[in-house]
Amino acid sequence: MAEDNHAIGIDLGTTYSCAAVWQADHVEILVNDHGNRTTRSYVTFTDNKRLVGDEAFSQAGRFPANSIFDSKRLIGRRFSDATVQNDIKCWPFKVVEGPADKPMIVVNHKGEEKQFAAEDISSMVLAKMREIANSYLCSRIPVKDAVITVPSYFNDSQRQATIQAGKLAGLNVLRIINEPTAAAIAYGIDKKASWFRKRHVMIFDWGGGTLDVSLLTIGHNVFDVKATAGDTHLGGEDLDNRMVNYCIEEFQRKHKVGIGGNVKALRKAKIECEKAKKVLSFSFEAVIEIDSWFNGEDFHTTFTRDMFEKLNMDIFNKCMEPVKKCLEDAKIDISDVDDVVLVGGSSRIPKVQELLQEVFKGKELCKSINPDEAVAYGAAVQAAVLSGNATGKLQHFTLSDVIPMSLGTEVRKEDLMNVMIPRNTKIPTKKHRTFVTLYDNQTSVRCGVFEGENKFTRDNNYLGGFTIDGIPRAPKGVGEVDVCFSIDANGILKVSAEVMSTGQKKAITINRS
Ligand code: AMP
Repeated sequence: MAEDNHAIGIDLGTTYSCAAVWQADHVEILVNDHGNRTTRSYVTFTDNKRLVGDEAFSQAGRFPANSIFDSKRLIGRRFSDATVQNDIKCWPFKVVEGPADKPMIVVNHKGEEKQFAAEDISSMVLAKMREIANSYLCSRIPVKDAVITVPSYFNDSQRQATIQAGKLAGLNVLRIINEPTAAAIAYGIDKKASWFRKRHVMIFDWGGGTLDVSLLTIGHNVFDVKATAGDTHLGGEDLDNRMVNYCIEEFQRKHKVGIGGNVKALRKAKIECEKAKKVLSFSFEAVIEIDSWFNGEDFHTTFTRDMFEKLNMDIFNKCMEPVKKCLEDAKIDISDVDDVVLVGGSSRIPKVQELLQEVFKGKELCKSINPDEAVAYGAAVQAAVLSGNATGKLQHFTLSDVIPMSLGTEVRKEDLMNVMIPRNTKIPTKKHRTFVTLYDNQTSVRCGVFEGENKFTRDNNYLGGFTIDGIPRAPKGVGEVDVCFSIDANGILKVSAEVMSTGQKKAITINRS
């Protein structure tokens, strides 16, 4: 492959995104035009321009209803999903129901109302990451190939929609890989090859909006996600909000006037509080100064690390619950965990590290790689391997992943889940099963596809389905239909059915996006 034909890794995050590349035998993080190593996952539509990334974030206060973030919370989901309905209540932008239960984001741009799907917004963020790569690498050939990461609990539809976002951004998506797997690769490559002997690794990923805890077993380059737990609404932003509320109360006490729901004032405070929070991860004190905050009054206060910890102690404690649950689900004892890896900006908080160390009985935590960059780092390694750009210590590296949830179909009248591919099966994989007719003269069979671990399909997640007909009339038990589930390396599922006696076939690729 040509020297400057780069393949990049992209961590497409809920609040921030990060891109990296393998070159000259090491991983390089791609710095954006603001000099930052991570980029806000934001798109702002001003009166006449579309801004993406850090610039979009800095203008968001002026255009609150037109500044879109959190598209990762919507991607590949249905409008009627309970989580979507709950999230909508918290966003300053409008989301409406589109065709086929698809959530559509509404913005006003250039005097016109426009609707965007979540993958359109994510594609704009991905295109920005591609642009950052092009200007950073100054290569003659524009970057096209990329590996994009997703949370391991993302279902098929969310993975498909992420691939679609990549395509819309002009990228050739080499593969979608799980975020904890990417972080584990980063540590494996960074540390020593022997890391790839059989090990149990816990990935503690605490970002701006979500906490994802995963337990992986690594052996011979197979990355097996044994269990995942977390909280999709627990992140650094909750800490910022607590600090903002504290400041509001202080202001009210001093000036006898409330800030109320003043959007601009709240935003100003949030930016300053986030800065102070970051300072408190390496200093014991941080000053919050907000010029002309409200009614022309300035505000300043000093926050100590101690105050910060007291204010957020319940949140920090809450972070330990998924850690314990993940160990329980994986049936792995604390003492059998070889490594605990910190990922996500919020994992820099000393109190969280202290609590984690307590859980793991004083174990040293892996924090040698920048926590906001570990996922992109691992994705860049995988991108180099898949594109043939692997050099040096990457040359003999391969990777296998597993499916996070069981996949199956409905059998019989009682809607029992018939598991075709059990969770944690290594991918790619293909499984066949033959079903016989249940009634005399039955000419068709409904093939519904579900994911989940529950006994009944009604309790699992419906992914799609089809009806195959044309079965020749015969007594029950005679007509046979062969059902095949196959999953490619991206975790994308194809389901097909064939009437055995006639060879008639029907197939779907599961894609609700
Ligand atoms: P991520 O989504 O992984 O990029 O994490 C972003 C979150 O990490 C945001 O809420 C940041 O405010 C937070 N964060 C970044 N650096 C620090 C730090 N030094 N201390 C505390 N939180 C941080």
